[in-house]
Amino acid sequence: MTEETWGRVLAELRRTVGQNNFTTWIEPIRFAELRNDVAHFEVPTTFVGNWVSRNYGDQILRLLAGSGVKVKRLEFSPAAGGTAEAAEEPVRPARPGRRPGRPAAEEPDLPGAPLDARFTFESFVVGKPNALAHAAARRVAEGGPVTFNPLFLYGGVGLGKTHLMHAIAWELQGRRPELRVVYLSAEQFMYRFVQALRDKDMMSFKTLFRSVDVLMVDDVQFIAGKDSTQEEFFHTFNALVDQNKQIVISADRAPGEIKDLEERIRSRLQCGLVVDLHPTDYELRLSILQQKVVMYREDYPGLVIAPGVLEFLAHRITSNVRVLEGALTRLFAFASLVGREITLELVQDCLADVLRASDRKITIEEIQRKVAEHFNVRLSDMIGPKRVRTIARPRQVAMYLAKHLTTRSLPEIGRRFGGRDHTTIMHGIRKVDELRQTDSQLNEDIDLLRRLLEA
Ligand code: ADP
Ligand code: MG
Repeated sequence: MTEETWGRVLAELRRTVGQNNFTTWIEPIRFAELRNDVAHFEVPTTFVGNWVSRNYGDQILRLLAGSGVKVKRLEFSPAAGGTAEAAEEPVRPARPGRRPGRPAAEEPDLPGAPLDARFTFESFVVGKPNALAHAAARRVAEGGPVTFNPLFLYGGVGLGKTHLMHAIAWELQGRRPELRVVYLSAEQFMYRFVQALRDKDMMSFKTLFRSVDVLMVDDVQFIAGKDSTQEEFFHTFNALVDQNKQIVISADRAPGEIKDLEERIRSRLQCGLVVDLHPTDYELRLSILQQKVVMYREDYPGLVIAPGVLEFLAHRITSNVRVLEGALTRLFAFASLVGREITLELVQDCLADVLRASDRKITIEEIQRKVAEHFNVRLSDMIGPKRVRTIARPRQVAMYLAKHLTTRSLPEIGRRFGGRDHTTIMHGIRKVDELRQTDSQLNEDIDLLRRLLEA
C-alpha cells in the first residue's frame, strides 16, 4: 500500500468520523507496513490501538479494501520507545482517561467543554433502568429533524446522564460534522454569562449561543435560584427552540422538582421529552462490570478474576456506577501491582471501605413489606398468627430472607415476626431451604425478591 492510498483513506476517515474523533484517535496512528495481508500500524499507546481497532477497525478495513488494498486484518502496536500505558501509570489502570488530542477544544469559537473520550454509545451498557433514556439519546444523536425539544434527562448521581450527553455529541460529530454541537455544564454556562456581563460583551455571548445547532446543558439544577443566569438561559433556550435547534438538558431531578426554578422555564423544560434514568439493577450493574473487565483485560491480559467476584460486586455496590467503576479500577490496580488473582478475599481486603459505605441495611420491615406485596397477603399477616399455608409460606420466605439479607440473630428475627420463638424461625428457614431443592417457582420468587430488596 502506498502512502498515497493511506492518505486517501485518512481523508475519507476524517469525513466519516468527524474532525474531533479524527484528531483524537486517527491522527496519532501511523501506518507502518503491509505484510502477509496484515496492515501494521504504530500507535502511541495500547489503549489508543485498542480503541481504534474496536471503534474504527471495520471501517478502516472497508476503506482499504475499497481502495484496492488486499488486507485481511489490522495490527496495532505501540511505537518502539512508546510505552504500554500500564508502565506509564501503574497505580491507575483506569482506562481510556487520557486523550491524545483535546476534542472540542480545537474549535475556539465554540463555547463547549471538552468531551470525555470514554463516554460513547459503544461503552454505554443498556439495561432496563436506562433503556428509555438511551433510546431517546440515540434518536437525538441521529441528527435528523427535531422531534422532541428539549430532551430532558434526569436521574441520581452517577447513573449516566453525562455519559449519554457526551455520547450524543461524539456521535453527532461523526455523522454530521457540519453541525455546531455544544456541550457544557450549567455552571460553565453561568460562568460564561457572568464573564460576558463583566466584560460588557453580552452581544457576542448571545450571538455565540444562538449560533449553535445542538445545545446540551448538563446539571441544569445548578442555575436554580441564580436569577439572571436563569433569565439568560431562558432566552437562549427559546431562541434555539424557535429556530428548531435541538436542546438536551440534564438535571438530578425532574423539572417539577427543581426548587427555585422559574415557572415559565419549568414548563418549557417539560414541553419536550422528559426521561429518567432509574437506579441501576443487579443485571445492569453486572453487565457494566463485565464490559469494563473486557476493556481492562486488553491491557492486563494476565489478570484473573475468580468466579463470583463480579456478581459479588454487583450485589454489594448498589449506590451508583461511578462507585462501581472506582471499585473495579482499584481492584485491578491492586491485583496487578501485587500480581495476584482477584479473589473474593482480595476484594474484601482491598475494598473494605467501599463495601462498608455501601452496606445498605435492608430492614426486616422492608423484607416483610416486599414479601407480602409479592405474595399478595396482608402485611399484618406477616406477624399475625394465621397458620394457613397461603400465609404461612410467605411468612417463612420472609424469615428466610431476613436471615440471609440482614445480620439479625434468630431471636431478633423472631421478635420482629410477632414475638415468635427462635426455633420457629429456624424451622421456617429450614423449610424454605428444603423447598428450594425441588420447587423452582419458589426459587424464582426468592431470587426476584432478593434482587428487589438489594436493588
Ligand atoms: P451522571 O452524569 O448521571 O452523574 P455519569 O454519566 O458521569 O453520571 O456516569 C458516571 C460513571 O459511570 C461514568 O464513568 C460513566 O461512564 C459510568 N456509567 C454510567 N452509566 C453507565 C452505563 N450504562 N454503561 C457504562 N458506563 C456507565
Ligand atoms: Mg453528570
